[in-house]
Amino acid sequence: MPWIPRGLREGVVTSRYPRRRDGYGPVFRAAVRVIDAADATTRIEDSVAACPTGAITIHDGRPRIDQGSCILCGRCTELRPDVFRFDPGFETAELRREALVVPEITESDEVLRLASAELGRRVRALRKSVHIRHIDVGSDGSDEWEVAALTNPVYDVQRLGVFFTASPRHADLLLATGVGTVGMLDALRQTYEAMPEPKVVIAAGVEAISGGLLGRGYASHGGIATTVPVDVFVPGSPPSPFSLLYGILLAIGRLSTADRAPGGRSPRSQGKDLGTARSDLYSEGFGMEGRI
Ligand code: SF4
Repeated sequence: MPWIPRGLREGVVTSRYPRRRDGYGPVFRAAVRVIDAADATTRIEDSVAACPTGAITIHDGRPRIDQGSCILCGRCTELRPDVFRFDPGFETAELRREALVVPEITESDEVLRLASAELGRRVRALRKSVHIRHIDVGSDGSDEWEVAALTNPVYDVQRLGVFFTASPRHADLLLATGVGTVGMLDALRQTYEAMPEPKVVIAAGVEAISGGLLGRGYASHGGIATTVPVDVFVPGSPPSPFSLLYGILLAIGRLSTADRAPGGRSPRSQGKDLGTARSDLYSEGFGMEGRI
């Protein structure tokens, strides 16, 4: 029984997030960031052309990235590491689709505050315990691996009163992944309508937000927002389990966008690139010291 000495050696591996940031989060890619926008029009032409989802555009000579379309493929960061960089972190979910476009186009702090207050009022009854109905409406399967990981010993969402249910009648939160294939839209709508009030909807992953690599076509609806009202948008392709967890806690009012560091980055990773953040955390043992 090798798991006994292994368990004794490794101790408790379960994250303490959100009570305490314990260092797992910054090992994930959160988002692409523009680090130098000077002369963007000429310097990033190749990146704009190489971006497979059209997530990079130029406005008034400055690059703009739609994180709701970015599949984190890394082409732009490889071509132009002097302009684009991956931010480590996970608190990337937003309450409004427009807020995923950075720099922001129309959103103001006041709009986001009102959206947050309205959602908080609606979900007040769900703060202590919530049941999730997950529905796959045309995912490539990667999102499902991350959703399934939420119940493993590292994330252990049950410790936060978050449970999965097979029945929409018992569900408070609809977690949708996938591009919104035409054949699944009725099932999505019916699942939403079968859920009791109050209910919340999360679009998990860029496929559910915008259609991702497939976008909109004869079989893909380009996301789920035209079928059901979305309350929280979690970017990523796929989003990491911590990104999903943050989105869930945001959806039920246990966290707010004000609780996070700018750009969804963990405070421990501020000012670091992804490689540095990762090597720091591995050398520090993920902040698990003293937990055995
Ligand atoms: S990481 Fe890929 S999808 Fe995202 S902006 Fe860069 S090129 Fe586009």
